[in-house]
Amino acid sequence: MSAEDRPAATWIIESAAEVATLSPAGATDAGSLSVVSPGTVVLAGDRIAWVGAATVAQAAAGELPYRLTPATRRLDARGCTVIPGLIDCHTHLLFGGARHGDFESRCAGKSYEQIAREGGGIRHTVAHTRAAPDEELLATATRHLAGMLALGITTVEAKSGYGLAHEHEIRMLRLLRELDRRQPVDIVRTYLGAHEVPLDQPKESYLREMLERTLPLVAAEGLASFADVYCERGVYSVAEASTVLRKAKALGLQLTVHAEQLYRTGGARVAAELGARSASHLEQATAADLEALAEAGTIAVLLPACPLYLGDNRYPPAREALSRGVPVAIATDFNPGSAMTYNLPLCLTIACVQMRMTPAEALLAATAGAARALALGDRGAIRPGLIADLVVLDTPHWQQPLYHFGASYTRQVFKNGELVWSVSPRPRAIPGELPSSP
Ligand SMILES: [Zn+2]
Repeated sequence: MSAEDRPAATWIIESAAEVATLSPAGATDAGSLSVVSPGTVVLAGDRIAWVGAATVAQAAAGELPYRLTPATRRLDARGCTVIPGLIDCHTHLLFGGARHGDFESRCAGKSYEQIAREGGGIRHTVAHTRAAPDEELLATATRHLAGMLALGITTVEAKSGYGLAHEHEIRMLRLLRELDRRQPVDIVRTYLGAHEVPLDQPKESYLREMLERTLPLVAAEGLASFADVYCERGVYSVAEASTVLRKAKALGLQLTVHAEQLYRTGGARVAAELGARSASHLEQATAADLEALAEAGTIAVLLPACPLYLGDNRYPPAREALSRGVPVAIATDFNPGSAMTYNLPLCLTIACVQMRMTPAEALLAATAGAARALALGDRGAIRPGLIADLVVLDTPHWQQPLYHFGASYTRQVFKNGELVWSVSPRPRAIPGELPSSP
């Protein structure tokens, strides 16, 4: 390759203590978490052009397969770690209102189901979401997305499901599309009309509306790439879930299911039978359910914040899933009732300490595994050709944000090759170098 044919570097992230490159897309086993130390990452436009152990001298001498130009920007990453942008593959981030009352009731000992029966729960959020003006919903969600970006999250899945009527569900999906345009975090949209049973319409007629009106419009307008159903006792049965998901599949949508959360209902089997991309929750899944998911190649999206926040010690069966060959992703389930957090790194710590995942498995589950759950083959690792979504952490150890839970180590975030977030500058001591005296 002659020097002119080489891609022009737009950014060089230089001499990081560690670059956790992770893996070829799709691999989610801990063995594929590879770390380059020290490592340099080169970006060309919106893509990763090169990653490896390069010295500044090699780069300057033109020994590497990219070209420096006067426009090339350099970032000194000594003492830092570079990881792929995190991917939160299960959220309900667009909602109106707040459920402080539910929180108080749960702290006083009431169950999630009891609160829902008394008028709290999802239906409370539905009333507030329907009533909120577009700009108010967008402003709140934009603030949440800014918080996510500051934690290193560069791609988010977001569901409808607080509309529970044709026009309200369509509005939610259009607002999510607008939200995607307004800020840097990519949003993958999921239609979750079957999130709860509406109070103002008989279930049968709502299901008919979904099948005959909403799903065809969602597919025709490309309003969502996934369809989801909350398959749970007292919400949607296995038969109802299966009907909705079959229709969605016939219309070309990919499938995901909320399955086996509070009770074992058979939702995981439905996911496996229909070839769903993923099944979420799975706290009550049996060994046979996990085997069916493994056989179907369905990804288990495990949501550790949920049992933590609900004060329930039944954590999702990560080890059982992994030992049976079920690919695992970890997500927040960010929602105003059962998991009011978008802190994905914190969820990874919970996955490690409560579900006995290794830190490497957890990091893979929120990058390569989550990319796989969303069918995104262009991200989730640091490899030439992938989208340049990267996080620079202010620590020389990639495990630090999991180990020191609740703290943020984000120093810079790159989205599509652009620096979109940076911590305010502060003095940094570089190992081995003393600041020069004035
Ligand atoms: Zn959920």
